[in-house]
Amino acid sequence: MKPLGPIPAGYSALNGELAIGGRTASALAEEAGQTPLFVYSSAMIAQRIADLRSALPERLKINYAIKANSFAPVLDFISPLVDGLDIASGGELAMIQSAGIDTSRVSFAGPGKRDSELEAAIAAGVTLNLESANEARRALAIAERLGRTPALAIRVNPDFELKGSGMKMGGGAKPFGIDADQVPALAREIIAAGCNWRGMHIFTGSQALSAEAVIDMQGKVLALADRIAGEAGTVLPKLNMGGGFGIPYFPGDTPLDIGMVGKALEKRFADLPDTLAEAELFVELGRYLVGEAGVYLTRIVDRKVSHGETYLVTDGGLHHQLAASGNFGTVVRRNYPVAIASRFDAEPEEEANVVGCLCTPLDRLADKAHLPPAEVGDLVAVFCAGAYGASASPSAFLGQGPAVEVLV
Ligand SMILES: *Cc1c(COP(=O)(O)O)cnc(C)c1O
Repeated sequence: MKPLGPIPAGYSALNGELAIGGRTASALAEEAGQTPLFVYSSAMIAQRIADLRSALPERLKINYAIKANSFAPVLDFISPLVDGLDIASGGELAMIQSAGIDTSRVSFAGPGKRDSELEAAIAAGVTLNLESANEARRALAIAERLGRTPALAIRVNPDFELKGSGMKMGGGAKPFGIDADQVPALAREIIAAGCNWRGMHIFTGSQALSAEAVIDMQGKVLALADRIAGEAGTVLPKLNMGGGFGIPYFPGDTPLDIGMVGKALEKRFADLPDTLAEAELFVELGRYLVGEAGVYLTRIVDRKVSHGETYLVTDGGLHHQLAASGNFGTVVRRNYPVAIASRFDAEPEEEANVVGCLCTPLDRLADKAHLPPAEVGDLVAVFCAGAYGASASPSAFLGQGPAVEVLV
């Protein structure tokens, strides 16, 4: 037997089934007209953001990193609830524009921005988080040609990382951002060139569950921003402090203590250096806002026994849930929270492996899980599917195609 990850708070049974937004899993699957499907709960997203705002200092603004989940109805729903949105490609800019979101609230980070992407972003008034000196010069030249004043911030590659973070994005040699020691000179250069100076962006990692680690990182970010601004002889109109707030996915994971993070920030904000006194201060979050609000529902199409082990074969798999399969940045495969959605209040009685329908041994959704006995036709729920599920899985693999997505 291998343990399953913790089911996020807020899910309950209705008529014996998992319910999301007051509707049973089988009703949701029927309405969608097919399985697999992703179901996102608007109530849970709204609640998460409200709880976050009450824990964090009022001064701190919240950006949503749309790469976590860019489903159009989710963007429509979340946009008025957050202060800004972060994108990482021209494709995401197009999604923002077709959602009718005010592009002056948007910033664009990411290495390897093409000239066409820089041009579209500058024309739309999006803030560019510059990832290199070369990118800065290309942006200035494109803005000049367009007759626009570009909104420019510098993404800093800091000399430290977010401890215990799932994906490290700072510390040492990195393709992201500009090494801290080179930032003051570049800041002076782009300010002198007449840009709309938007300060700095310092992102150090993702998926931290330790409040101490987040608090430590935020202290270092504020100190580094102050030091760079001082060396550049400027004050910061804006500082994106990064994010990194994680959610529990695996057995033993416990939620980030956001109250502790808020209290520590409150103290620091009461005593900011002059370089940051007037700055708009942001965190940028993806999975923390939407991850636990999503469930992936897939139907069991076969049940078989091999060498004494039971396999529940579903119509879903890693092509929609790469992270749950263990193939998206994890070293050792561990089980996500998984349940038999159509028997949500039944007691676990057997050990079963839940697998997907792809012809690869990588396509696993739960190994040796303790589950209620399930039959062909039952629905399986994979939780924590609101972030990096549909947006980060190879849905074209084996000609499967994307899952249906619904916001309830
Ligand atoms: C991916 C990313 C995020 C969001 O990460 P989460 O772990 O989903 O919160 C935020 N900022 C940057 C720069 C990113 O690359």
